[in-house]
Amino acid sequence: MLELRDIKKHYKVGNTVTKALDGVSVAFRQQEFVAILGESGSGKTTLLNVIGGLDQYDSGDMVINGKSTKDFKDKDWDAYRNNSIGFIFQSYNLIGHQGIIDNVELGMTLSGVSKKERRKKAEEALERVGLKEHIHKKPSQLSGGQMQRVAIARALANDPDILLCDEPTGALDSETSTQIMNLIQEVAQDKLVVMVTHNADLAHEYADRTINFADGRVTDDSNPHVEGKKKEPFDLKHTKMTFLTALRLSFNNIRTKKGRTFLTAFASSIGIISIAIVLSLSSGFQKQIDQTQSETLAQFPITISRETTDQDPENFEDQRSNEGTFPDNDEVTAKTSDEDRSQRTNDIDQDFIDYVDDINPALSNNIGYTRLANMNLLREIDGDPELVQFSNGSEDESQAESMMSMMAAQTGVGVSSFPKQLDDSQGNFLEDNYQLLDGSFPEDTNDVVLVVDENNETNINALNNLGFDLEDGDNVSFDDIVGTTVTLAYNDAFYEELPTGNFIPNQDLDEVYDNDDNEEITISGVIRNKESSTMDLLAPGIAYSDALAQKVIDHNQDSDIVQAQEDSDTNVMTSEDIDDTAKDNLLDALGASEIPYSVMIYPNNFDDKEQILDYLDDYNEGKDNEDKIIYSDLAGTMTELTGGIMDAITYVLVAFAGISLVTSMIMIGIITYTSVLERTKEIGVLKALGARKKDITRVFDAETAILGVASGTLGVFIAYLATFPINAVLLNLTDLENVAQLDPMHALTLVIVSTVLTMIGGHIPARMAAKKDAAIALRAE
Ligand code: ADP
Ligand code: MG
Repeated sequence: MLELRDIKKHYKVGNTVTKALDGVSVAFRQQEFVAILGESGSGKTTLLNVIGGLDQYDSGDMVINGKSTKDFKDKDWDAYRNNSIGFIFQSYNLIGHQGIIDNVELGMTLSGVSKKERRKKAEEALERVGLKEHIHKKPSQLSGGQMQRVAIARALANDPDILLCDEPTGALDSETSTQIMNLIQEVAQDKLVVMVTHNADLAHEYADRTINFADGRVTDDSNPHVEGKKKEPFDLKHTKMTFLTALRLSFNNIRTKKGRTFLTAFASSIGIISIAIVLSLSSGFQKQIDQTQSETLAQFPITISRETTDQDPENFEDQRSNEGTFPDNDEVTAKTSDEDRSQRTNDIDQDFIDYVDDINPALSNNIGYTRLANMNLLREIDGDPELVQFSNGSEDESQAESMMSMMAAQTGVGVSSFPKQLDDSQGNFLEDNYQLLDGSFPEDTNDVVLVVDENNETNINALNNLGFDLEDGDNVSFDDIVGTTVTLAYNDAFYEELPTGNFIPNQDLDEVYDNDDNEEITISGVIRNKESSTMDLLAPGIAYSDALAQKVIDHNQDSDIVQAQEDSDTNVMTSEDIDDTAKDNLLDALGASEIPYSVMIYPNNFDDKEQILDYLDDYNEGKDNEDKIIYSDLAGTMTELTGGIMDAITYVLVAFAGISLVTSMIMIGIITYTSVLERTKEIGVLKALGARKKDITRVFDAETAILGVASGTLGVFIAYLATFPINAVLLNLTDLENVAQLDPMHALTLVIVSTVLTMIGGHIPARMAAKKDAAIALRAE
């Protein structure tokens, strides 16, 4: 069934080619016990390795069941070893970190036998060699004779056709040797057993046939066989190890060296730890920055106001170069101050308002307007209508105070009309940023709300101006406020024309109050800024929609008093002479103009703000200086402070952390390489059992995968723990809470990155391991 024809095998020692086999020709029968007898170094092991397909011959031909192995591919040899060959070595070659039963099962695992059948066959094999009661032990707990029995059980378990024994009793005492030889003889009843030995007594006592071997040649054969020319079907079942088996093998191996594995995982996790910390810090800082940015922008929006200051430094260039000439003369030069020089008027028109309305809502969805138009409001108190107002000013508001509220309007602090949404589908400003304490959010143009601060306090004037009679510190229940109605009278009802042509507010408030054109305005709810909101725009007090202000203007635009005022150069109420500015202001107050006094744009963050500024700059492109619209960007100076620096720092830190990651990858490579060296024998055994190159690679890939997952998880876990002390220190230093936050997505990514990188780092040594010559691997000590 097996025939060797003129097999030669050459080895290289240094540059010299030596011969281990020198044209061996021999044929074996299906069932016989052949002993090959020869001196040490005569080439016996080499011959067995060639028969077993562990070491490929250089010339000659091997024929199995009439089929030449000349065209055998790697996978055919692997399958041949797995299906047809059982090896028994002088030094047992059991895998130390695996249990006895696992060692016996290994060959079947490779040929894909089911777990249940594997276990059954392995138990049978162990019972056959008399080790039934030792099944649950490890190889290291057995004597030499017992280990050799395990090796025999392993060789038999897969039911091979040929059993190859390389000095099976070489390491055993004579009594144990006898037991083992009896066992092998028993096996030889129904198999071809080829045993090599240098013990002539043993050979003659047990074998059916003895072949003398010297210097790689057959010198004498006690019972030569001539293989016929029969051609039998010879099918091989190809082997395959699953990744799970590889994992189990590696996991058991790793378990035997817990300390080292932990240290390795820890050392290689340092890269992961540093990256995780850098990421959690930078995303935490980024959150803080984003929040500060939008808070800043809520307080300092881009403002376009009718009266403005030109902050463009270009316009002061000549002023600056003039500095400090210390002239030696006796004259004083009269000069316009910087402030006065930079005062200018923006000619805001409908064009510009439309342009603002076209701002990309993704950059800023909120646009606030300040309008100077008065609302004529009345409320019935104790049965009689009285004049009231939506204002936080004290009743006897002085000139200075109205200037103050004008200033407030310019900077956007404490606006009373809430911003208009450019895109309603992107949310509702009030509902997104404010919490409803009582009543409902405005549903109608005529609904207004009362805004309170985080202590539920609101401006006393706001309430008193509406006719409440309160002292500082008095409390009013929500119920008394929600549902309060105020009557809005339009100019034609509110003002009456005197026969002189002058206008005065109608003194008969009952008449004004009962006019059919009046509107009813309701305080629909009480709201408070959400804790999480950064858009704290509305000052405590009454807030209404810009739509309401526009509605008032729409109606009052064509009122008699407005038309009269437009045609007159004197104040139509007082008959005073007025200049153009005073007339404009008066007209605005009467609601003559649809154009707001100022526009406030609230971008989401500084980047978006830059884009909006560019957009606004485009409006001025090609316009005369007087026609340009100058905006003030009060948050502008803060831009340089944050933004870019944070990114730069993150990049540098991630780069450093990346270096430690590469270092740990190299380390994993070295560790795997060491492991490969350590497990060389195991590789040999696996190959002898029919493992493919792929399977060997798998075993080591599995090991690095375990290491990678372990070090990634450990790193992420340590980094997570580290965020607590880091946050404590940062809180002490900066008053910022919970800056370092490990994003779960980052954590997961890092574990994956760690696994992938360590697998890459370990894959090259794994490939080297797989390529190892099996015959040489088995010779390794
Ligand atoms: P035996 O098993 O009969 O003691 P071996 O088959 O192990 O002999 O070796 C036969 C000869 O081939 C020895 O001289 C040995 O040094 C040599 N040899 C075996 N394997 C190699 C190898 N991989 N490289 C070089 N020489 C080898
Ligand atoms: Mg040998």
